[in-house]
Amino acid sequence: MALYLDNAATTPLHPVALAAMLPFLEGKFHNPSSVYTPARAVRQAVDEARIKMATALGASPEEIVFTGSGTEADNWALYGVLESNPAKKHIITTKIEHHGILFTCRALEKRGYTVTYLPVDEHGQITPAQVEEAIKPDTAVVSIIMANNEIGTIQPLDEIAKITRRKGIPLHTDAVQAVGHIPIDLSALHVDLLALSAHKFGGPKGIGALYIRKGTRLAPLLYGGAQERNRRAGTENVAGIIGMAAALEIAVNELTESRPRISELRDALINEILTNIPHVKLNGHPTHRLPGNVNVSFQFIEGESLLLHLDMQGCYASTGSACSSGALEPSHVLMAMGLSHGMANGALRFSLGRENTQADIPRLMEILTPAVARLRAMSPLYDDYIKKGE
Ligand SMILES: *Cc1c(COP(=O)(O)O)cnc(C)c1O
Repeated sequence: MALYLDNAATTPLHPVALAAMLPFLEGKFHNPSSVYTPARAVRQAVDEARIKMATALGASPEEIVFTGSGTEADNWALYGVLESNPAKKHIITTKIEHHGILFTCRALEKRGYTVTYLPVDEHGQITPAQVEEAIKPDTAVVSIIMANNEIGTIQPLDEIAKITRRKGIPLHTDAVQAVGHIPIDLSALHVDLLALSAHKFGGPKGIGALYIRKGTRLAPLLYGGAQERNRRAGTENVAGIIGMAAALEIAVNELTESRPRISELRDALINEILTNIPHVKLNGHPTHRLPGNVNVSFQFIEGESLLLHLDMQGCYASTGSACSSGALEPSHVLMAMGLSHGMANGALRFSLGRENTQADIPRLMEILTPAVARLRAMSPLYDDYIKKGE
């Protein structure tokens, strides 16, 4: 049986979410904008899904707008704020954003915006003081990833939100890895915009949402029909919306059980790796990290080679972000944390999810330990190290 340890790349669709979606892929196919009876029932299902999402996040239903992905929500947050406030041309973000924010910022720089990319400490964290110091008179938006997809580090967003609120600057957070995995209460956490994506918490792919706090000025990204109260044009992905809301409701309701259980698995796996395999370093924050995230660097070998060894034995992990797999560029996140090229290239991410169990840890170790040993036996770097030691 395969051993799936890449839940940060995507999660299996929850069976309850699938069951909720099926009627909308079959008989209930009507366009929610149409006026006849069956279409109004579809409209009502979409509205109910919005209420579920809002309830799960401590928001109001009018503050939830459905998008085609987490990436779209991230792009929209930045473009939308900037377009609604053309006088301001400065953006504050971090060096460890997901490409959905990072590459949007790079594109904006080409259009004349200036971007401050805040450096992180060795655990991948920024401080609220860094944000405060970076604010300029023409700062239009601050965008900080809530929990990093590669290393799992959680940012002190509460404190950051207090600063941006006091300064009157909109705060966006890419919470795609956080939603459904750590508690989020938007009635207490004062972010203005928040991006989420269904397929990271047991929902289907190709559906996400942008939370837009009441009163936040945000121009549309897509123009066309009047869907989503004129904020996001395009016929709704009805089945996707229904599946996302069902998955989020389950994930949030299960959090008090799943979070400690998965965190315990995470810590057990970290402990197994660090005690059984020499020359390994844990990447990311020791405690402020996502429940399912294990990111470790194996000295002297390439994470990419190790990944292929694991794949051959039915064990699926990642070197970091799905987008950078295949490219031999070291991870921008690990480089920002000060890792050497060698250690950054030796990194592997195991991301645990609701379906993983205690039994998966010895199963992984049985494959991982000999795979690392085999690769090191072939590694000229390891050979040099051993010779020097003699
Ligand atoms: C997966 C991910 C995204 C992109 O979401 P998609 O729905 O796949 O476009 C954005 N940010 C983070 C942190 C992610 O992990």
